[in-house]
Formats: sequence, structure tokens, C-alpha cells
Amino acid sequence: MNIPFNRPFLTGKEAHYMYQAVYTGKLSGNGSFTKRCQNFFEKQYGFKKALLTTSCTDALEMCAILSDVHPGDEVIVPSYTFVSSALAFVRQGAKIVFADSMASNPNIDPEKLESLITPKTKVIVPVHYAGVACNMDRIMEIANRHNILVVEDAAQAIDSYYKDRPLGSIGHMSAFSFHETKNIISGEGGLLAINDERFIRRSEIIWEKGTNRSEFFRGEVNKYGWVDTGSSFLPSEVIAAFLWAQLENMEMIQNQRKAIWNKYYNGLSDLEKREIIKLPDVPAYATNNAHMFYIICRSLEERTALIKFLKDNGILSVFHYLSLHLSDYYTSHYNDIPNLPQCDRYANCLVRLPMYYELKNEEVQYIIDNINLFFS
Ligand SMILES: *Cc1c(COP(=O)(O)O)cnc(C)c1O
Repeated sequence: MNIPFNRPFLTGKEAHYMYQAVYTGKLSGNGSFTKRCQNFFEKQYGFKKALLTTSCTDALEMCAILSDVHPGDEVIVPSYTFVSSALAFVRQGAKIVFADSMASNPNIDPEKLESLITPKTKVIVPVHYAGVACNMDRIMEIANRHNILVVEDAAQAIDSYYKDRPLGSIGHMSAFSFHETKNIISGEGGLLAINDERFIRRSEIIWEKGTNRSEFFRGEVNKYGWVDTGSSFLPSEVIAAFLWAQLENMEMIQNQRKAIWNKYYNGLSDLEKREIIKLPDVPAYATNNAHMFYIICRSLEERTALIKFLKDNGILSVFHYLSLHLSDYYTSHYNDIPNLPQCDRYANCLVRLPMYYELKNEEVQYIIDNINLFFS
């Protein structure tokens, strides 16, 4: 067997829609495929405004601009996350304050949040790791009490929920990713979702290079020009056309991934009962969008040995984030390096198993058998 870690799934309609976009002669952004995708997100998840972006990183950069983050401001980010969750705010001059994860799953621990807040705190960035919701009631309550904005990093969280509320619809704004490693893909791609109406007008301007071009095309102003900061954050129609093919098949994609996830969970639950590994924790307030299947080993040595054992048997499993608070960038820019034991535990002990639409039942079984064999 030779099982890769990820294989991007194509529904079969992508090239067809891209061909349509190309031959209707509207190639730049904000055309009919872009509008179709954005309408889909607004209807399906109740976002007040949805704007396609060229990546989740770009959507997060837009959030940093919209949050009016300036040098001297502080932004609280979990350390166990992708670089972009912090980087987008660093580019606006923010000081990043890293938070620890919960013991039960890698999401930010709301109980440790309050002690990190200072008068300079402007934004909290909860990251829904593996598409499983953070404790949003607690986070929103703390943020609102201190008058802090909440930007959800929902990169992995498409079509997942917190107490029946779609992830990405709870914070003031949020960012999704359609990178080829995510559930719904467009190669590179992302989405900015705005939930607080105060930010809608400015989001369109920042999206369109600091101009009020969107208002002009709607006939709301009779000329357009440079009115604010911004960049070229919008993707071309060719990318939006690709994405549309995926969105049409979202339910099929999600159901298949959930079936794979459940097979892993059942096949490995005996190891968890015997307290040899830990399986993903999905709290009662959260749903599972099967973005990722991970297990947590007891030590770094054990994890290293497991990854090697699986590799020797043709299975590519991978560890995930390195603690950002221990990164070269952070340690060379900051003096006060925090102690975040849970984050370090996930950095050392978590391993992700192959997870993609076309992963066959026999392959999942083969992976389960090999993991059971390793620990026997
Ligand atoms: C994938 C990911 C990103 C970055 O997404 P891009 O679309 O590649 O910019 C940011 N945050 C998290 C948590 C991610 O998983």
C-alpha cells in the first residue's frame, strides 16, 4: 500500500466552470461566479457579508485592517495554530500575546484568557482547530465585557457549528481557507465573512485596492476613486469558478469525510479505552466537519516511532504545528516567552492520519490495523 496524507478531491465540474469563466471573457474578480459563491455563503451560513479572497491569510489581513490594529495594540492568538493567525496582525504592527490550548483539545482555553487581557488588547483570535468549535459563548462574553473584537480563524471550519450556529458567524468577522488541504478547495483561496454591519462598507473598499469601486458598480456613487487603505484581495473568476464546483457538492464531500472519520474513531477507540492514545474531543456544544483525524500519543518519542512505523508500511502520517511562541521569529522579536504546556504537548504528541475524500474503506482499515499493531 502507498497512502498519501492528502489528495485534493475534484468533483469533475471544476474544469467545466473554469472553461465557462474563460470563454465568457470575464476573467478578473467580482464576476458572476464570485457572486454565486458569496451568495451561497451568505444564505447558507447567515453571514452579513461574504467576500472571496485569494487565501485565508489574506482574509485575516483584511480582518486586521478592519479591526484598526495599530503598533502598540495587543492581539491574543493561540500558540498552537498556523503562522497566519498571528502574522496577519503582526503586519499591522500588533504585539502578539500567545494563549495556551485546553487540556481536552487544542482550542484556546477561555479560562486562561482573562489573565492575558490588558487595556491594549484589541482582538482575540479563536482558531477552530480541526473544524471543532471553540467555546464561543465564553469567548464572546469575555470579549464583549472588555470591548474587544473577535476574529474567528475558521480556516478549517467550513460547515461546522457551535450550538446550531455556523462557525464563522459568531465573532465580529471571520476567515475561511480553500487551500487544497482543506475540505472545500480552490487550490489557493479564502473567504472573509463579516457579521458586524459596522465593517461591511469598509470591507469592500479594502478588498478593491482602497477604492469605492463596488459602490460605483451598484450605482450608489457616480465616480469611484481612492478612499482608504487596501490591497488586491479578490481572486479571479477562474478561481471562483473552481470553487463553485466544490460548493455544489459540499454535502457529498462532507458526508464522505465524516464516514471516514467515524471509521477511524471506532477502529481506534479500544486504544483510547486502554489509555494508550487520546482520540479527538468533540465537546457537546460542537459539531464535527471531519476536517482532520488526529490521535495524541503519550510522548514525542512514541509519536516519532509511530510516524516511522506507519511510513515503513506505506502510510504517510504527519505531525502538525510547532508552538509559535517558540518559533525563531517570535523568540527573536520578544523577550517575554510564555510557558504554554498544553500547546507544547500538542506540538510534541499529536499526529494526523490520512484524510481525504477518495481514501478507501480498506485503506482506512489498513491504517487502523497498523496503528493497533504498533501499540500491541
Ligand atoms: C490553512 C490555515 C490557514 C491559512 O490558510 P491559507 O488559505 O493557506 O492562507 C490559516 N489558519 C489556519 C488555522 C489554517 O488551518
